[in-house]
Amino acid sequence: MKDCFGRNIDYLRISLTDRCNLRCKYCMPECGVDLMRHEDILSLEEIVRIVDIMNAMGVTKVRLTGGEPMVRKNVVKLVEDLHSFSTIEYIAMTTNGLLFEPKVEELVNAGLTAVNISLDTLDEERFRAITGMYGMEIVFRALQKSCMLGLRTKINCVPVRELNDADLEDLAGFAKKLPVDVRFIELMPIGCGKEYEGIPSDEILDRLARKYGPYEAFAGKRGNGPAKYVEFSGFLGKIGLISPMSHAFCGECNRIRLTADGWLKLCLHYDIGVDLKTLLRDGSSDTVIKEVILEALEHKPQAHHFAAPTGTHEDVRKMVQIGG
Ligand code: SAM
Ligand code: SF4
Repeated sequence: MKDCFGRNIDYLRISLTDRCNLRCKYCMPECGVDLMRHEDILSLEEIVRIVDIMNAMGVTKVRLTGGEPMVRKNVVKLVEDLHSFSTIEYIAMTTNGLLFEPKVEELVNAGLTAVNISLDTLDEERFRAITGMYGMEIVFRALQKSCMLGLRTKINCVPVRELNDADLEDLAGFAKKLPVDVRFIELMPIGCGKEYEGIPSDEILDRLARKYGPYEAFAGKRGNGPAKYVEFSGFLGKIGLISPMSHAFCGECNRIRLTADGWLKLCLHYDIGVDLKTLLRDGSSDTVIKEVILEALEHKPQAHHFAAPTGTHEDVRKMVQIGG
C-alpha cells in the first residue's frame, strides 16, 4: 500500500504493551506512565486480525515491541500465529533482553526471524544508573544464546552524552568478536528524551575510526529500516547508524505503528492516526477496516520535524508507549 507521497508501506511495528520491567532514563519517567487499562489493550486475536488485514494490503514485515514485549503473556503463540501467514516474511522483536533468554528457543521455533536487543552499556553500574536495575549480565546471556541459535541478532544502543558516552567504542567492539550488528540510534526528543543530549552519528563514526581504523560504507542491503551500515576490517558484524536527527530519512519511510491500545500511528513525531480498536470491537468488517486504514494513510505526514517542532499534532506519548 502507498501513502499520499508514493512511499510503499510494508512494515508494521506493533507495541504489545505499555508495561516495562525497566525504567531507561531517556524513555520512561522514573515514576512510570499512566498505564493503559487492561481492557483497552488489544488482545492477541485482535492483533492477528489487524495483521491479517494489513497483510492483504501489502504489509509483509512486522516487529513486536513495547514497552517490553516479553512481559506480554503468550508472545510465543502470537509469533506462531503471525508465522502462519505465508506472506509475512519477517517477524522481528525489539527487546531489552531481560526475559528473552529462557524463551529464545521457543520463539525461534515459532517463527521469529530476528531480534534487536537494546544494550546501552557494558558496565553493570552504569546499566543500573540508566535502566534502574542490575541486569547487564542477563542481557549479555540473551545475546549469546540468540547468536548461538543462529537468530539474526542486532544490538541497539542509544548514545546519550550524560549516560553512556564512555561505552560506545566497547559496545561497537561486540561486532568485532560476535556476528552481530551494533546499531547506534540518535536520541530523539520524545518524552524523557527531551531532557538529554544525544550524540550524533558522525561523531560516533569518527570515534570508532580512531579506535578501530578506517571503515567502508556497506553497499549491500541490510535490514528493513533506515540504518546505514559500515564495515571495519576484521569485524564479524557491521556497525549501523540510525540518524533521524542529523540525516533524516523520512523520504524512505516504509512503516506505520500500532500502539498497544490499537491506535494506528502514522509517524513517530505526530499523533496523527486512527483508532482501530473501536472498529475491531464494534463489529466492523475487514473491508471497512481496510478502507479506514487506506484513508488514514492519506494523512501520513511527509516528515518529522523533531529539529524544528511545528507545535501542532505533536504526540505527547512517551517512547515506552510507542515502541520506538
Ligand atoms: N523495551 C524494548 C527495548 O528496550 O528494546 C522495546 C521498546 S523500546 C521503546 C525500543 C527502542 O527505542 C529501544 O532500543 C530504546 O533504546 C529506543 N528508544 C527509547 N527512547 C528513545 C529516544 N528518545 N530516542 C531514540 N530511541 C529511543
Ligand atoms: Fe523499557 Fe525499552 Fe523504554 Fe528501556 S527503552 S524503559 S526497556 S521500553
